[in-house]
Amino acid sequence: MQSDQAFTMRFLGVGNAASSLGNASCVLEQAGHPLLMIDCGHDALPRYEKHYRSLPPALFITHLHLDHIGGLEGLFFRLRFAPEPRLMPLYVPAALLPNLQKRIADYPGVLAEGGANFWDVFQLIPVSDGFWHQDLHFKVFPTRHHLPNSSFGLSLPGVFLYTGDTRPIPEQIIAHGSSGETIFHDCGLESNPSHTGVTDLEREYSESQRKRMVLYHYADAEQGAALEQRGYRIAHENETFLLSAPEPAPTRSSIAQLKSV
Ligand SMILES: [Zn+2]
Ligand SMILES: [Zn+2]
Repeated sequence: MQSDQAFTMRFLGVGNAASSLGNASCVLEQAGHPLLMIDCGHDALPRYEKHYRSLPPALFITHLHLDHIGGLEGLFFRLRFAPEPRLMPLYVPAALLPNLQKRIADYPGVLAEGGANFWDVFQLIPVSDGFWHQDLHFKVFPTRHHLPNSSFGLSLPGVFLYTGDTRPIPEQIIAHGSSGETIFHDCGLESNPSHTGVTDLEREYSESQRKRMVLYHYADAEQGAALEQRGYRIAHENETFLLSAPEPAPTRSSIAQLKSV
């Protein structure tokens, strides 16, 4: 039976950069409430607002391809002109910051009338190996997409592992996805130098790992159906996945209590 506090993952879009299935992006929810959005391509924010009727509480970025960050400019405007302005936590792997600055924030004159900087509306939080959010500790790890240190995955131990765009990363799945996590993995039908293909899964991962996988970032519905025919679970647009409860771990507040004695 589903607990009132159950964690779920909702996919807003599941496609690759050229797909009509939406930019790959999802939202970690607890008790149906959004906790953390992962990636914000150009069509992710409208999909988010259509479902939740609000703006995301916080966002984590996996890498800097525009199907994952193209919605940041729209998010800036929505936050800047929100009736009740707030700083939105934006967790970004520290290695991505120089190129994120060049690619998004350096655009001259973010507002035509002046008086604003791109980062004014965000609480920009550079992250390395992990970060705290809502008393949960998330792990961040490098993946294999383009140049080294240009893409990162995210896990919540015991709950989920999200690869972002990547070639197979068996070493990271062992390190961060060996506690029963649901593994959301980039996968299309064919492999290529920047993405995983279905034959890669069969070569690089164990059967027990593959059984915990949900595949996303595929080209179209036909590819998705072909992946399902090979026995894989795939994510569809606006589909949610029930996740395991997190491992009992010290929370930020319990650590603070320990320190205070
Ligand atoms: Zn992508
Ligand atoms: Zn990419």
